[in-house]
Parts: sequence; C-alpha cells; structure tokens
Amino acid sequence: MFDYKSAFERSIEQVRVEGRYRVFADLKRVRGRFPRAVRRREDGTEQDVVVWCSNDYLGMGQHPVVTEAMQAEIEAAGAGAGGTRNISGTTRSAVDLEAELADWHQKEAALLFTSGYVANEATLATLQKILPGLIIFSDALNHASMIAGIRHGGCERHVFRHNDLEHLEGLLAAAPAGAPKLIAFESVYSMDGDIADLKGTIALAHKYGAMTYLDEVHAVGLYGPRGAGVAERDGVLDQIDIIECTLGKAIGVMGGYIAADAVIVDAIRSWASGFIFTTSLPPALTAGALASVRHLKAHPELRDRHQERARTLKARFAAAGIPVMPSESHIVPVFVGDPVHAKMISDMLLDEHGIYVQPINYPTVPKGTERLRFTPSPDHDDGMMDELVRAMDKLWTHCNVARRPAAA
Ligand code: PMP
Repeated sequence: MFDYKSAFERSIEQVRVEGRYRVFADLKRVRGRFPRAVRRREDGTEQDVVVWCSNDYLGMGQHPVVTEAMQAEIEAAGAGAGGTRNISGTTRSAVDLEAELADWHQKEAALLFTSGYVANEATLATLQKILPGLIIFSDALNHASMIAGIRHGGCERHVFRHNDLEHLEGLLAAAPAGAPKLIAFESVYSMDGDIADLKGTIALAHKYGAMTYLDEVHAVGLYGPRGAGVAERDGVLDQIDIIECTLGKAIGVMGGYIAADAVIVDAIRSWASGFIFTTSLPPALTAGALASVRHLKAHPELRDRHQERARTLKARFAAAGIPVMPSESHIVPVFVGDPVHAKMISDMLLDEHGIYVQPINYPTVPKGTERLRFTPSPDHDDGMMDELVRAMDKLWTHCNVARRPAAA
C-alpha cells in the first residue's frame, strides 16, 4: 500500500536540503509598543524584539483609531458576519467600506474579498469566464496569487520580462487585434522594491486595446496625496481598469478588494466563486479597515515620515558597506546571495540582538538572490536604526558575506 508518511517526510526533507525549511518566529504584539514585540523562544522563555520585516507598514494594526473601532464593532455587532454576502453576511461596515474604497481609488465601485490573495485569484480567473478568448499579459514577477488566478482560468497567457515594456509591446503586437486582452502587473514589487512604469503600460494598453489590472498591495496607503497608491501618485487612477489591493498591509487589518467601474464589479460579484461561496469578513474587521482608510486618507505626514525612514535606512546601510539592493520604494532589500547565510544572519540578529528580519528565499525570490528584506515604519526611531546597522555590520564581518552592492 502507498506509504503516505514517507511521501510527506521526503517533501519536507527536500526543503531542508535546499536550505529553505521555514521556521516562524512566535511573536506577541503588544498594543502601544509597535514595532516592538515579545518573542517566545523554543524553550518557552520570552525576549523583547524589534520587528523589521512587518508589512503593517505604518503600524495601523496597532493604531487606537483602528483597534477602538474594532472593539466598538465587536460590542455592537458580535464576532462573525454570519454568512456569505448573499445569505445574511452583508454587514453595514462592509457596505460602507466598499463605498470608502471606491472613493479612495476614484472608481464607481469596490468589492471585498477574504484576502488579497483571494481577490487576485478569483478576479483573474473570473475575467476569463466573462471575456471569452481573453489573452492575459502578465509581468514575470507577478505575485503567486495573480499567477494562480491566471492559470486557474486556463486562457492564453504571455509572460513579459519584468517591467520590460518593449517585450510587452512585442507580445501585444503579435496577438490578434480584435481579441480581448488584459495586462496584469503590480505597482510596487515587494521583494526588489522597484516600481512599474504605469503611464508607459497604460499607453500600450490604449494602443493595443487592452484592459489594465494593477495590484497595489504594497502601495496602497503609502503613495499618493491621499494614499490611494502609485496610480494616484502618477495621476492615472482613471486610466487603470481594475485596481486590486489588500487590507492586510498598510491598512493594518486583513482582507482584499478590487475597485473598478460599476459594471466590472457587478460582473465579478455575479460570477466569482471565491466571492460568492464564502463567509464574508467579520464586521469588526471591516469596521477597523474603514477607520484605517479614513485615517490614512487624511494623514499624508505618515507617508512622508515613512519615506524618510526608508531613505535614511538605505543611506545608513550603504555607508556601512551593507549591500542594499537598488529600490525605488519603501522596501529595503539587502543582498546575501545564498539561503544558508541569509538564515544564519537572520538567526543571529534575532538571538543575539533582538532584531527580527525573516530571510527571503526561493521560491519567493530566484535562487542565488536570497536576501533580507527590511521594512522600516514611521515608528522605527533613530536608536533602533543605530542598533540595526551596528548589528548588521558586525554580522557581515562575522559571516564573511560580500559587501559590494549586488547586481541581482
Ligand atoms: N499581491 C501581492 C503583490 C502580495 O505581496 C500579496 C501578499 N503578500 C498579495 C497580493 C496577497 O495579499 P493578502 O496577504 O491580503 O492575501
């Protein structure tokens, strides 16, 4: 009979041999102390740590505006939504949040999903049902959830080299002129921190009659005068057909959404299994996200401070000879180049310095480009940065890792 246990063990062993077996840090976040947290070690003892890799980019997950809104909504509405959107699960705060998100992105409508992953997977798969013969053009570094959605529908697809508009144009030009087309891409790419050329991509979409689908998961809340993302910063909100985002990063809660013309949202709402057949988000969560979005819209100084912290950290690493990779955004990737050293440095930072940054390995990034990815927030102060740069400098020497800037 088939030996199931050995098959599972072999699959784990393979990951271990490749040096990418994941160990999660066990963290307790304590309100009012962001970005500090308390880590539980394997032996059960506790350690104070500074978290340097959170995607709660602005600390909104700990902000009283958000936590108080969530507490009030739990008191008022209870814990769960009680059903799918269709069957009793359309809560007042979900409806209000969708209106707020539509306004944020200057679109007619928005639609909530369980997560950003589900928003991408469900929407990209469903577009293929709605638009027969659709051809999707997908950036090579698109997130796993976009790839899953594109593959799920089984339509013709072409992958263009990352941020390479010439390659994209060649592929668009080779496709039948009358066919429906969709260009799927991200604004801020989370592992390298580079930013797509939105205007150039839109120009190609117009030239070849394609729709545009933009993932702003790592940009919403962080760019643009009202924090609506890179499309707002670049003044092209009205020219992107579908914007997809998460509520789980700068907004600080959990969930995902799309924003688009009403007719697009209505069609996705009507056809997407990943929207229709699942319990809707808890009301406290949508109330927290609503409070967060309203706060983010009104507080550009958070974004200014966030950008300043990222610039400062990049400059300080560079001055210390730490190979910070080129990044146009708030993301600060540091090149290591192999999974063993990336894990070793991460472990030593945590155990010896109380600094937590998770190593980023294949398949999240290509083999040979393993890195540490720092995400400074407005709440990382100069003292925390001093300690980080000192510790990194020491470990770089200790582990004998290259100091040259990486060309990855
Ligand atoms: N898109 C991108 C670019 C992401 O990085 C992520 C999550 N890391 C997602 C989508 C999925 O978002 P969520 O975490 O809300 O599922």
